[in-house]
Amino acid sequence: MSAEILEIVSTLPIPEYLSGEVQSKLAYVDEAILQAQVTPGGERIRLSLAAAPDSEQRSRLEDKVQRVVASMVKGAIKLKVQVLEDHLDRPVPYALDPMEALLARKEVNPEAVGIFAVGPLLSRLIQFFEGLFLELADSFDAAPYRFPTLIPARYLERVNYFRAFPHSLSFVTHLRTDLDAIDHFAQHAACDEHGLNEPLTSFAGIETLLSPAVCYHLYFALADQPLPGGQVVATAVGTCFRYEAINLTSLERLWNFTMREVIFVGAKDFVLQSREIARQRMAAVFEKIGLAYRVESANDPFFIGEFRKQAAFQSAFQLKFEIRARLPFKESTLAVGSYNYHQDFFGRQLNITLPDGSPAHTGCVAFGLERMAFAFLAQYGLEPSGWPEFVRQALA
Ligand code: ATP
Ligand code: ZN
Ligand code: MG
Repeated sequence: MSAEILEIVSTLPIPEYLSGEVQSKLAYVDEAILQAQVTPGGERIRLSLAAAPDSEQRSRLEDKVQRVVASMVKGAIKLKVQVLEDHLDRPVPYALDPMEALLARKEVNPEAVGIFAVGPLLSRLIQFFEGLFLELADSFDAAPYRFPTLIPARYLERVNYFRAFPHSLSFVTHLRTDLDAIDHFAQHAACDEHGLNEPLTSFAGIETLLSPAVCYHLYFALADQPLPGGQVVATAVGTCFRYEAINLTSLERLWNFTMREVIFVGAKDFVLQSREIARQRMAAVFEKIGLAYRVESANDPFFIGEFRKQAAFQSAFQLKFEIRARLPFKESTLAVGSYNYHQDFFGRQLNITLPDGSPAHTGCVAFGLERMAFAFLAQYGLEPSGWPEFVRQALA
């Protein structure tokens, strides 16, 4: 099947610094889009479509694309990128895409788009990185938690998640507790190219989602009460879900991934200092494993309508820094973790109070485990003989 290309001249030219962000949002514009690209120079948008659109579809597509571009570009200013650490030029021996070798060795089994089972090499590597992240957690005496994979819709509603990230939500339901619905499903359920054929009326209303992050669960456990002891440090690992549409690619961007977080709750200075100490401790760890990376200011992938305001806010208040590991095979970088500060947002929304009655501040250090392993393999390859001594020894 050959894809149909549709080129749209953008009413507003897309500045270079926004091109990646616009491109990632184009993924959510229309189900017919297989691929979206902002042309170099930012004048046009090139869409690959499954089939040639009729004139009505075409104008609808153009309209939606122009809307995305306008809402992201109009009045945008280039946010200053602040670089806290730069080790991108740390020499690394490998330059190929590890995905090919991982697939060839059956180290990863793609179950569906964005969903992978991983084998022994990746699992051991992930466990090794987990050990390092747990050492970080231990250095803060972090209390361990285990959080559910599901999260009540009410929780996400209460922290404004629906407004900020609607596009990446994953919803959970079950058959209605109704014998007819269950019987019908048992007798007729089958999959076709659109998925399960069961009518939506067989399913219960949605009260639950798949959790998109780890630390929210801690804030909810602390909600509506004074913060015990005036400050809390906790750690947990959890499976997280973000539906990233056509942006889902290899182990770089998954629908279903794993995050380890170290979470700080308390007074502003405590949270900010802890985040900074964590960054410094991790700098030493990344040096030991030979990771080529950079830590720079960033923003969360807000939905289009919220994007400009929220991104500028995060940047102005230095709320988010990403650990961006080098991917030599594509001359780019990938966020393997982030250092986040939420000010007193969760404290206010969830009524978590400090001893003086003011809302608690929160921050978290979050690592993407699959991405960490992927970035390491992208820099060092699959053969342990090519790995830094420290890693080889730990995995021997
Ligand atoms: P990106 O900008 O790459 O989408 P993010 O800003 O959404 O990342 P965070 O919310 O800071 O990511 O999440 C913490 C970490 O979780 C990221 O640094 C990354 O390592 C990992 N992560 C986030 N989204 C995904 C995903 N879709 N697939 C795999 N790992 C992810
Ligand atoms: Zn977090
Ligand atoms: Mg990001």
